[in-house]
Amino acid sequence: MRTPWRAIAIGLIALLLAAGAPVQGKPAKAKGQPGPTACEPKRFRIVVDVGHTPDSYGALSARNDPEFGFNLVLAKLVTAKLKSEGFAATRLLVTDGKARPSLFKRVSAANDGRADLFLSIHHDSVPDTLLETWEFDGAKSYFSDRFSGHSLFVSQQNPHFATSLMLARMIGRQLKEQGLHYASQYSLPVMGRYRRQLLDKDVGVYRYDGLVVLSRTSSAAVLLEAGSIINRDEEMAMNSPERHEVVAGAVAAAMREFCERR
Ligand SMILES: [Zn+2]
Repeated sequence: MRTPWRAIAIGLIALLLAAGAPVQGKPAKAKGQPGPTACEPKRFRIVVDVGHTPDSYGALSARNDPEFGFNLVLAKLVTAKLKSEGFAATRLLVTDGKARPSLFKRVSAANDGRADLFLSIHHDSVPDTLLETWEFDGAKSYFSDRFSGHSLFVSQQNPHFATSLMLARMIGRQLKEQGLHYASQYSLPVMGRYRRQLLDKDVGVYRYDGLVVLSRTSSAAVLLEAGSIINRDEEMAMNSPERHEVVAGAVAAAMREFCERR
């Protein structure tokens, strides 16, 4: 989620990846009627947000691949999975430009498009103080195998905090049922300014009030850190189609459960 201090020209790879992606900065036309109070899958508007941009690509993996590329691949699959399971109004949101303005562009796109849920897809790293060095592909590279796992974040400042928390818990529950574990380090002092309050210690939901995309969205909003790409083993797993399927399947199952309960 954080932006590393190392400025490396690997952003180019992300640009190439993005070139094949449906770039959607344009908000959908508001139709004038209120959003659905019940969850009818085909009308429930889920915005699947690709974290970061080609220019501001987020974290760098242990093998020097930018986070943006990981986010794009997974978010595309999550979008496709949701659509195939009846959530026809789901759309992928790819944003360009610099980091901070891109956050407000995302919020505008979701709010103008009258989203019912904003789901932001990211991949995790660690604070710079925890990084160790190794050589990969002939280049000095950085890693940390100390932590792994996914995590979910919600903001208490979001107008639909309770719904956001419920959805995050459902996604976390599905991931747990698939045998995955959450990243427990966010409640530890070692995380410094990245330390967060753990709201659900069973399935790994944290509170992150200050995050623009969670607090300024008019809809419920959840941020998913799908896994750690600074962990050398987990980076490999996060590149695998099997893991993509598991995560996308967990999100879709959680959405089905959410709609059935409403
Ligand atoms: Zn990120």
